[in-house]
Amino acid sequence: MRCPIIVTLGHIDHGKTTLLDRIRKTTIALKEPGAITQSVGASEVPIEIIKKLCAPVSKYFKVEFNIPGLLFIDTPGHESFTNLRRRGGSIADLSILVVDISQGIQKQTEECIEILREYKTPFVVAANKIDLITGWKKQEGECFLKSFSMQAPTVQNALEEKIYSLIGDLSRYGFEAERFDRVKDFTRTVAIVPVSAKTGEGIPELLSIISGIAQKYLSSSLKSEAGPGKGSILEAKFEKGLGYTIDVILYDGEIKVGDLIVFGTRNGASFTKVRGILKKRINKFEYVNSSAAASGIKILADGLENALPGSEVFVARNESEKEELAKKISQEISEILFEKDEIGVILKCDTLGSVEAILKLLKKENILVRKADVGQVTKNDVMEALSIKEKDRYHGVILSFNVNITEDAMKEAEQKKIRIINTNVIYSLIEQYRAFVEEEKKIAEEEALQRFVLPGKIRVLPGCCFRISKPLICGVEVLIGKIKPDYQLIDENGNIIGRIKSIQSEKKSLDIAKAGDKVAISIDEGVFKKNVFEDQILYNFIPKKDIEILLEKYKDQLSGAEIDLINEIKRITRRI
Ligand code: GDP
Repeated sequence: MRCPIIVTLGHIDHGKTTLLDRIRKTTIALKEPGAITQSVGASEVPIEIIKKLCAPVSKYFKVEFNIPGLLFIDTPGHESFTNLRRRGGSIADLSILVVDISQGIQKQTEECIEILREYKTPFVVAANKIDLITGWKKQEGECFLKSFSMQAPTVQNALEEKIYSLIGDLSRYGFEAERFDRVKDFTRTVAIVPVSAKTGEGIPELLSIISGIAQKYLSSSLKSEAGPGKGSILEAKFEKGLGYTIDVILYDGEIKVGDLIVFGTRNGASFTKVRGILKKRINKFEYVNSSAAASGIKILADGLENALPGSEVFVARNESEKEELAKKISQEISEILFEKDEIGVILKCDTLGSVEAILKLLKKENILVRKADVGQVTKNDVMEALSIKEKDRYHGVILSFNVNITEDAMKEAEQKKIRIINTNVIYSLIEQYRAFVEEEKKIAEEEALQRFVLPGKIRVLPGCCFRISKPLICGVEVLIGKIKPDYQLIDENGNIIGRIKSIQSEKKSLDIAKAGDKVAISIDEGVFKKNVFEDQILYNFIPKKDIEILLEKYKDQLSGAEIDLINEIKRITRRI
């Protein structure tokens, strides 16, 4: 059996990094000297250490451990989780969802739960920062149950209340959860382990529970074949003195120096021969001849500059296997990265894994995607979004995740008014897109409304007639609503006075005058003292069918006074 692969997820600042550090430090402190070869990008905790750490906890799992240990991915968060992908899922066997016990489930926690559900990855909850509960007496490195028994009853109650509230929160997401020592069936109930990443309290139980769950319930997926290696590219990096390298988490089989490997690039599959395999010794790289799953390794080889993080890497034993694997990888990449001649948003992400994860979430939200790609946002993307916007304003937008935007693209987007939503938090990407759609809807409604004659009521100011006719020019005060050039005016009896030719104020022409404004207007057919008089009230003429549409469809965008005015105009114009 191989080590289960474990990823730590959770909301920012809830303690993922601190927890991983603590597990690493505990491991190093307890490890026999000499046995210190480590993985790259991951940390191994041998089973002897777990056994040593908390014998009292073994009563929750009466199993003989035959997994060699646990492999923790060093980088927490869903970026690394989604990158540990394999066809149809994740190579992570288990996840620790870190939740600050006093803060409970937050936005990113929610997102993690969605991702874990999507990938069907089992998880336990580390209810972290118990040492911050008022009155908590720290017991450095202790088992939780022992430390708990040493706390005052009020402190114990405070912790229990927080756990119950967490259980309630999780049930809202469809998960039954319980404190680990009260769980009867770990396949049905999510275990909550109270811990402090800072003091180490509860970490023995956390490790035991994870080992127990993996051992007992995941054993079939932990059986590693002694065959050719299969892994997932966590990162592709240029290393000084080594050239382009890939950090790979091997989840099955074995890989040796000299092996032919097939891996993914943005343009499909590529292959190369392994020149070197590196593991870590303390903080230095160390060459090894081979590595077996589960482990984290750095692979040196030519032609790795285009390796795509999140793509799979396979050892091929012969030419025909190579062709077959290359086909499989290419097909998979082309399913994730695509460009269609359809309406949809443009998605640009840092890795194949994030593209895949975000696509899944966008699909759930029914957000159409035209193009999904890895790489920075370029001017071309902006041009493409612009051409979409001309057909559909709600999809002419770029969603970018954890990537750069080129200067050219930035300039073009500003000029062409194309929105680039750029973030490194998935939920915020979707939230910002929704907000964008709402804004666009408002603008669209506003634009649609502007196509109608809007209601307006004005008073002709006394002593302000500047020209008697052809056109008449006089001062008016807008009492309610708006007037615009080209609007027709009527009097209180519904008689048409004429059309507004222009509006002026302080010698400047205006497109609009609003309630409260005092302006000069010219009226083509108006004749002073014949159909226009001092102190007379005039109204905008609104055609009957437009009145009905405004009252039915656009009520929300009009003020109460404007709606009353429309009704007034409706009454006045009833006879015409
Ligand atoms: P991450 O963003 O989830 O990786 O969170 P970090 O591990 O960076 O922790 C965020 C802050 O919380 C840091 O200041 C940590 O020192 C602190 N922290 C993490 N775990 C604990 C804990 O168990 N107890 C206390 N008191 N502080 C903690």
